[in-house]
Amino acid sequence: MHKLTLRTLILLFALASAIATLINAFLVTYTVQKRALVETALESNRAYAAKLAEIINDNLNSDLARLRYSATLMGQSFNDPAQMAREARRLLHQDSSFSSLLIADHEGVVIAAEPADLNITGKTLRSLDPLVEKRPLVSPAFFSIAGNLVVFLSYPIRNDAGEYLGVIGGTIHLNKSNSLHDIIGKHFHRDASSVYLVDQSRRLLYHTDPDRIGEQINDNAIIDAALNSDNGTLQAGNSQGIEMLAGYARVPQSQWGIVVQQPLHNVLSTLQELMHRLIIGMIPMCVIGLSLIWWVASRISRPLRKLADYAQQPDTVDNIQRIEQVDAGYYEAVQLKRALITGVRLLQTRIGQLNVQAQSDALTGLANRRAMDETLTLWQETGRPFAVLAADIDHFKRINDQFGHDVGDLTLKSVATSLRQCLRSADLPCRVGGEEFLILLPDASLAVAADVAERIRATIAATPIEGAGHVNISLGVAHWHGHQETQSAVLKRADELLYTAKRTGRNRVVVQKANTPMEVPEPG
Ligand code: GH3
Ligand code: MG
Ligand code: MG
Repeated sequence: MHKLTLRTLILLFALASAIATLINAFLVTYTVQKRALVETALESNRAYAAKLAEIINDNLNSDLARLRYSATLMGQSFNDPAQMAREARRLLHQDSSFSSLLIADHEGVVIAAEPADLNITGKTLRSLDPLVEKRPLVSPAFFSIAGNLVVFLSYPIRNDAGEYLGVIGGTIHLNKSNSLHDIIGKHFHRDASSVYLVDQSRRLLYHTDPDRIGEQINDNAIIDAALNSDNGTLQAGNSQGIEMLAGYARVPQSQWGIVVQQPLHNVLSTLQELMHRLIIGMIPMCVIGLSLIWWVASRISRPLRKLADYAQQPDTVDNIQRIEQVDAGYYEAVQLKRALITGVRLLQTRIGQLNVQAQSDALTGLANRRAMDETLTLWQETGRPFAVLAADIDHFKRINDQFGHDVGDLTLKSVATSLRQCLRSADLPCRVGGEEFLILLPDASLAVAADVAERIRATIAATPIEGAGHVNISLGVAHWHGHQETQSAVLKRADELLYTAKRTGRNRVVVQKANTPMEVPEPG
């Protein structure tokens, strides 16, 4: 038997489409939100990197401007070392921009340096770029003799005639507190984001993690981008292979690159949090929606379910009333209900007809032996007393022979009609053989049965039959004595009494003797 019901089907279907819609909505929301968050993060990182680059550039320019001022003064007093040392000292202590200062002549030989304990006076500069270039310069980062990571800002010294005399330069210590750290570190306070500054040789000048300052990074697409364009954004793996959302910008004065970045998973965890809240928010609606679906599914399936159940037992007595009580509710169910009622009615009528046919004799319409047996069984169960008349038409063969079979049949019908006329509605006349009848009389005494038998005999004898004239019948009458004898014994007794009637002249009734229950009287 099928366990899958219409309601289950509707529920499954509705559930499947609801889940598909939800998943689709989720995927779309997730994708759109992710793109928006990533783009926002990239753009804000780029804007911040650009701002920092601008500030660093301004700062370098003002450092170079200070060097230019001192260079102008020194151009006028280049031959006075004491004056130059004084100026260097003034510049160094003016603010915290430089960690040390030096003045070198046009061959790169240091002629004055501050603080004095550096002990580099008389030595030659490591890089002669400033002497070659003869213009304001910011060097790449390098490790000083004292082991500090530094950059060197230099400005050419010329006299009033424009003649090149030498260079004044200041160093900025990158791994100690300095103005760059102040600019970058002070402005930046965002969780899980990091910022770093690299020079042209890919060395870290600043990093959120101070231990990494001075490290040289070769394989990094974000640094490539930062050193090669003014500003922009990039989503790429960093040197540790973590996917980063980076914004970058270049410092024009020094050609350094500054990068502001945060891990992609950081942005995605924000998104997951968002989706999580979305799910929680949707639960009540889902519950309401599913309840509604459940209700509708029940509403649609209930009448069909009932009709289907009732359709399985069409011959139950009160089935039509039960079907009529089904609240169909909608067009298809109403039509189905109507069709079922029509069908069941038809079936029950048909079954009724078949029952009648199965229990009656086609020629006379009297009950047949099967119907008689059923009635007797019922009486047996309830202990109902009865009398039996066994009847047989006299010389019936002759009627057939003389007038033909059709007249014979007509005679049988006429006898049946006469039988009915002489009986009560509770009595049961049966045709049990060709022209043999058994008549059951419930609750009738032997005397009443004998009277009925005589009435039958007389009626038939007096009834003319078309084409055959008159016929007679002989009857045997027996009465059931209760549970001490079987029903078949009574029938047999009636039959034997009938034969007695035949043998003793026909057209007569022979009745069982009232006080000899078991024994059939021997003929004459
Ligand atoms: P009896 O007085 O001894 O009964 O003589 P009977 O001629 O009636 O003899 P029996 O009862 O043996 O005859 C039965 C005959 O009834 C045999 C058969 O030809 C005839 N018969 C049986 N069934 C039918 C039927 O359905 N229609 C017709 N027309 N004749 C039938
Ligand atoms: Mg016979
Ligand atoms: Mg006969």
